[in-house]
Amino acid sequence: MIPNGLCGCSPGEFDTFSKPLFRLVCHCRTCQLFFGSDYNDECTFLLKDCTSLNAESLEFKSYQSGFSPIKRGQCIQCGKPKYCKVEMGSIIGFVSIPTNYLRHLDLPPPIAHIYYDNRTTEVHDAVKKIAGHRRSQAAIQWAVLSSLFRRAFLSKDS
Ligand SMILES: [Zn+2]
Ligand SMILES: [Zn+2]
Repeated sequence: MIPNGLCGCSPGEFDTFSKPLFRLVCHCRTCQLFFGSDYNDECTFLLKDCTSLNAESLEFKSYQSGFSPIKRGQCIQCGKPKYCKVEMGSIIGFVSIPTNYLRHLDLPPPIAHIYYDNRTTEVHDAVKKIAGHRRSQAAIQWAVLSSLFRRAFLSKDS
């Protein structure tokens, strides 16, 4: 079941997903505005693993000022926020999907709350809280690199 505020126009789109690379909770202003919530709990996957996504049903836009590789997708049909796409040229791409779309999966806990200085609500959990743009970006980069490294060298199924 898709919770309120999320798009249910492409049922089954996330059914074949397996474990994400990592999960993060972002409290940045852009996520708050785009998702209309206090923070965005999201799971990141490699774009090439996400072949079941119906990207034509979304309109992708860049919401940050200045250069950003992040494009946020909104459903054309219902107007609700869907997921974000990050493409680094043609080399590698990622998709970050709100965890609420993925409740049917056995998900890992978030590795951190980022942009926590911008929080509109206190979160009382044992997950690490990271404040500030530079440290938050470093946390994302570390999450990407360490998860790709783990996948490449430690897992048998990749
Ligand atoms: Zn929709
Ligand atoms: Zn954010």
